[in-house]
Amino acid sequence: MHQVKENLHKCLDALPKGVELVAVSKFHPVDAIRAAYEEGHRIFGESRATELVAKAKELPGDILWHFIGHLQTNKVRMILPHVSLIHSIDSERLLQLVDSEAQRINRVADVLLQVHVAQEETKFGFAPDELISLVESGTLNKLEHIRVRGIMGMASNTDDTMRIESDFEAIAQTFKTLKSLPLKDAPAFTILSMGMSDDHQLAIAHGSNMVRIGSSIFGIREY
Ligand SMILES: *Cc1c(COP(=O)(O)O)cnc(C)c1O
Repeated sequence: MHQVKENLHKCLDALPKGVELVAVSKFHPVDAIRAAYEEGHRIFGESRATELVAKAKELPGDILWHFIGHLQTNKVRMILPHVSLIHSIDSERLLQLVDSEAQRINRVADVLLQVHVAQEETKFGFAPDELISLVESGTLNKLEHIRVRGIMGMASNTDDTMRIESDFEAIAQTFKTLKSLPLKDAPAFTILSMGMSDDHQLAIAHGSNMVRIGSSIFGIREY
């Protein structure tokens, strides 16, 4: 666990001011999370609902859990009381459901809209044009129990730096466009979540202000 602490500090020291770190703890044991927690870190990212809830119940209540994986509609009710930010809103149906579940438990859910630009077909998210139409349609402004805080995106999984840069540029451009549209919570629309262990420097160079870093902190995941 000493290694986790050292990795965390290395990672934090290298981040420019204003860039928030989500320590992605998926598939890693609670002891590893506790090690980072003891160093003062509070934001952790998980990609599976059952895992997030189990860890949230076992660990201190002041942890800010971020959900970063594909969220199945039947898991919304389960995670909502435990999450502080959902990065992965990838359909209008999911958005509606999070809104109604949030209303049911009398809170406002902070979310990011996931934008898809990567070459992989399997990745979830809205195409930039779809997202822009969705915001222009005004639908989001009717969801009183949702606060849209920004967007999340991933670059293609490739060694081609040019492709990664153009993906981040496309995501950042989408963010800028959305920011210029009338959103009910416009002042809160500030988060551009992009960048993981291997590509976060490039993401930051393209404007990311929230990075999601797992393996560089916790080591290789064993699935
Ligand atoms: C797993 C995951 C990460 C972290 O990936 P690393 O390469 O381990 O840093 C970031 N974002 C999402 C959406 C993930 O699923």
